[in-house]
Parts: sequence; C-alpha cells; structure tokens
Amino acid sequence: MSKIKFYNRFSISQKIISIILAVTIVSVVSVLIVEIFDNIETSRNELKNNITLDAKLTADYLVPTFLFDDQAGAKEILQKLVNIPTIVYGAAYDPSGSLYAEYRSVTYTDSIKSIQKILKSAENEKMILIRDSVRSKGEVLGAVLLIASTDIIREKTKQHINTVLIILVISILFAILLAFWLQRIISGPILRLAAVTRKIQDTLDYSVRVKKEAHDETGILYDGFNDMLQSIQASKKERDLAEKKLQEERELLEIRVLERTKELNTAKEKAEESDKLKSSFLANMSHEIRTPLNAILGFSTLIQDPTTTPAELEEYYRMMETSGNDLMNLIDDILDISRIEANQIKINLQDTHIIRLAEEVFSTFKQSLYSENPDILVTPVFIVPPEKEDYILYTDPLRLKQILLNILNNAIKFTPAGSIEFCYFPNETKTRMVFYIKDTGIGIAKNQQEKIFERFTKVADIKTKHFRGTGLGLSIALKLAQLLNGEITVESELNVGSVFYLSFPLAKVLSPVAEVEKKPKDESLAFLSGKIILIVEDVEYNYRYLEIILRRNQDVKILWAKNGLEAIELCRKNSDISIVLMDIQLPEMNGYDATRIIKSENKNIPVIAQTAYATHSDFEAAIDAGCVDILVKPINKKELLKKIAERML
Ligand code: ADP
Repeated sequence: MSKIKFYNRFSISQKIISIILAVTIVSVVSVLIVEIFDNIETSRNELKNNITLDAKLTADYLVPTFLFDDQAGAKEILQKLVNIPTIVYGAAYDPSGSLYAEYRSVTYTDSIKSIQKILKSAENEKMILIRDSVRSKGEVLGAVLLIASTDIIREKTKQHINTVLIILVISILFAILLAFWLQRIISGPILRLAAVTRKIQDTLDYSVRVKKEAHDETGILYDGFNDMLQSIQASKKERDLAEKKLQEERELLEIRVLERTKELNTAKEKAEESDKLKSSFLANMSHEIRTPLNAILGFSTLIQDPTTTPAELEEYYRMMETSGNDLMNLIDDILDISRIEANQIKINLQDTHIIRLAEEVFSTFKQSLYSENPDILVTPVFIVPPEKEDYILYTDPLRLKQILLNILNNAIKFTPAGSIEFCYFPNETKTRMVFYIKDTGIGIAKNQQEKIFERFTKVADIKTKHFRGTGLGLSIALKLAQLLNGEITVESELNVGSVFYLSFPLAKVLSPVAEVEKKPKDESLAFLSGKIILIVEDVEYNYRYLEIILRRNQDVKILWAKNGLEAIELCRKNSDISIVLMDIQLPEMNGYDATRIIKSENKNIPVIAQTAYATHSDFEAAIDAGCVDILVKPINKKELLKKIAERML
C-alpha cells in the first residue's frame, strides 16, 4: 500500500487555504524583516551622521581651549554633551595623543571601564565611535572622540517590531478571510463534481450531468466528466439490455430444460407403459386367437367322429361358426386400428335416418345378446323419442353402427344380469343427437374411466372372471366417433353399472313440436281432458317421451315424481289423480313398494307399472304390489293410450 503524503490527508479547501496563508505569511514576514533591518540601518546611519556632526561642532568649540591651553574650558565644553543623550562618552586629546579633557554620561559611568572596552563595544556595533581632529588654520591642535550608545536604535526597533507584529496579525487575519473566500472559486467546482460522483455511486443513475459554469480547466474537466458519463450510460444500457436478454435466454432455457425433462419423463413412462401394454397385448392376443381356434380345431375333429349325432353335429357347427366370427371380429379390429393409425380409414358421409339405424342396431344387439346366451338375465330396452322420424344425421351409417354395436356388445359382455338400455334423444338446443347406452353391469372404477379408451387397455377385474377382448374396441369407437365429429363420454360406478353417451352434430331437425302445435287437437286424446296423470320415472327423457305423447291433449295435467317417495308424497297432496304410470326400478324406493303404500292410502288410484323387465315373474310381482296393468319398455304409444283409457278413473 502506497503511503499517503501527509498533505494529501487534507481537503482541497484546506490545502488552498494553507497555500494562501503560507504565501501571505512568508511574503508579509519577509517584507517586514527587510523593513526592520532597513529601519535599523537607517537609524544607525542617522545616529552616526548626527554624532559626526556633533563631533565636528565639539572640535570647533574646542579650538580656543587648545589655542589657550584652557583644559577646564575644554572640559566644560565637553560637559555640554550631556544635552545629547545618545552620547555616552566624549574626550579631547592633545596632539601627542594624551587625554586632555573628558566627558562621561551618567548612565555609562560604571560600565565603561576603559577606552579599550568601549572600542570593543563599538566593534560589536553596540556603540558608535566618531573621531575628528581639532584644527585651526590647517594646523592640528588635537583630536576629539565621541562615543554614542545605540540603545535608542534598539528601543526604536523594539517599538517598530511591535507595530510590525500587529500588522502581521492583521494581514494574516485578512489573508485567512480572503483565503476562505477565494478557495471557493477553485474548490467549489471540484466539490460539486465530487458530490455528483458520490450521488452516482449511491444511485447508479448515470443520466445525471454536471452543469458547466466556467470555461477554465474545471469547464474542461466537467465536459470530460459528462462525456465519460454519457459513454458509461450508453455502455450500461447496452450491458443492461444484454443482461436482460441473457436472463430471458436463461429463463427460456430453464423452461425448455423443464419441458424437455417432462417430455423425456412422459416419453419414458409411455415407453414403459407401451412395453407393458405390448407384453399384455401379446399374451391377450394369443389367448384371443387360440380360444376360437381351439374350438374350431376341436370341433372339426369331433365332426369326423362317426358316433356324433345329428343334433350334436348341429351344435358343433354353430360353435365353430361363432368361433370363426370371433376370429373375424378380432382381425377386423386389428385392421381397423391400423387403418385409423395410418389415416387410411374411409368415411362415407350421407344423410342417415336415425330411427332406422337405431332399430337395426337394437335388433342386431338383441340377436347377439340372446345368441350368446339364450337364458341371459339381461333385459334389452330400446327407448326412442316421440319425434322419431324427424332426426337426420349427416354421417357414415356403417361406422356409426359399428361404434354403437361395439359399446352395446361391451355392455352385453360386462352385464351378467339386469338391463341394457339403448336410447337416443336430441340435446336441448337440438344441435346434437345423443345416443345413450346404459347397463347394470360390473361398472368401471372412476380412475379407470379415461384409460378404457386407450389401445389394448382392459380394466375389468380378471380375478373374478376372465372377460374376452383385445382392449381395442373402445379406442376404435372413440377414434371413429371423432372422425364423425362426435364425442364419447362415460359415467360409471363399480358394481352398479355404466352409461356411455355418444353425441353427434345433427344435420336436419324438423320441429315436430311446432308441427304438433299447428295440428288440431288430437281427437283420440279427448278422454284425457281435465285428467291428472302422475308419471313416476327417474330417467328424464323417458318421462319426456310419455309427457310429449300425453300433452297432445293440452287440458291434461301431468305430475312428475323421480322416485317412489316423491310419488307417495304427490299422491297424498293430489287425491284426485286419475292414473299413475309407475316405473319399477327407481332410486330411494322401488315401484313395487311405492305402489303398495299408495294403494294402501287410496285404493281407488289405478297404477300401471312401466318396466323393462318382461318376464312372467315381473308381471306377477307388479300385480301383487297392486298394479292394474303393465306397460313393457320400449313403450308403444298406441298401447300406452289404450291402457290409460281402459284403466283411468
Ligand atoms: P375389450 O375388447 O376388452 O372390451 P374395449 O376397448 O371395448 O376392449 O374396452 C376396454 C375395457 O373397458 C374393457 O376391457 C373393460 O374393462 C372396460 N369396459 C368397457 N365397457 C364396459 C362396460 N360396459 N362395463 C364395464 N367395463 C367396461
């Protein structure tokens, strides 16, 4: 560390003040010293001249005393020197050099011991010594010696020095004032510059500029400083910009890294998943191919057995045909999914009447339901809206059938008992057509409901039962539906059942309601005028179907209960109800129990059961509960009106 010189510890102002003071003091002191010495010299010369003159006068006065050898007179004359206080000694000498007469001042009587001593004092300049000769007409009569003390000069000098000191002090005071005032001229701009520098250091604001006030060196310094600030500001701006860009790039990079990591993880998970899927697909495929092949090959050997009876033969052929069809379906599925993935599937769009398509689908579905197991405990239910002829979809009918049958076949596969409902209805705005397939099967757990649409995914619990299938059906159905601008959603609960909704944009809608309004009142419904009909139905569109048929007579009052308990409540409040159309499978309380309570409270109310169960035992159970009749779903309009007309109060 370099050593800081001591004067650099002071501020500029202090330095300037010190310089001014030093210069002032040195100059004033020098001038005063010169002046003092000059004054001493002048006083000395003056004194010397005076004494010389005094010596001359004294010599002149002494001439007569030497001429007349009047020693006393000489002494007297010398005695007159008392009037000149500076003269401490006076002496007259005869031509031989002997002392003739002498004068000694009172002050110096003791101190001047000998002439030798006086002469020495004179040499030291403490005394002034003047000699002159006493002459008369050119002849030397004697000599005179005067010695003067220089004390007076010292006294004067002392006084002079005092005055000079006062002048010095005053000058220094003035110099200080002046220095303080003048230093500002030089230090002011520098201090301002220092203040601005400090401010910039604190705030890092390089847009600050110093205001130039002079055209001297500080002006040049200010210009330079401002230029420097400008270039710092510009480079700072550039640096800030670069830093900002860098930061953005860094953030972008981080995001990209995160994204890539995520993508990599997803890809890894997908790879693992697809690996798993591949293995389970292969195992499954092997099973799916071997099972029908096993049947075909097995039965083909049995056919050759001569002991086989014709009845057995027929059964073997039927089983071989079923297995062959299974194999065909499997191959179709695989071909479909590969065509879909290769974007090679052909869609043949055309105006399609929904009712016809739905009826075909339902009948195929019913065939496969019973062909698989003729004693199956599952009731197929087909519900159509009353405005059945009026909906037309612009779609590929074959593909739509394939989608619907796929889901219906799944329903058959996963529903051991209960019912499978197939219905369609327009949405509220009549812009889309919704197909609805509801089963009372094994259901799908909530967390599996999205997965079932993925390829090769089977989620049914295979511990309890092995369900045949490749896990391709729903993914084909979804992809095909998307190609037809449709959507598939599922609602399901384990061990309760599943509902699949398929919706497609409607191409043409003829408003049947408006037409109905235009039509005159349906004469055949006149018997409904003023009647109150209670429809007990939990499925809204089933209720709407009945309501639309009955409302064609505008004078009928229709009440709607969504469960058994609501039905009982409404019957209590409206004792004049003309007839109850009671659904059997209801939430909260079923139709049988509700009918029993209603009948126990008002035995006159006629209750017609409406059910999807069409077995003989169902009929018996309904009658047993108190129902007067039964309507089997899908409910036929004519039959509905006929039965109401027969049974209504
Ligand atoms: P699969 O050929 O196995 O039927 P899908 O793609 O049609 O393939 O169905 C995938 C899985 O979704 C089925 O294995 C089954 O676990 C489940 N699933 C589909 N439909 C139903 C349903 N109606 N009830 C219960 N589970 C179903």
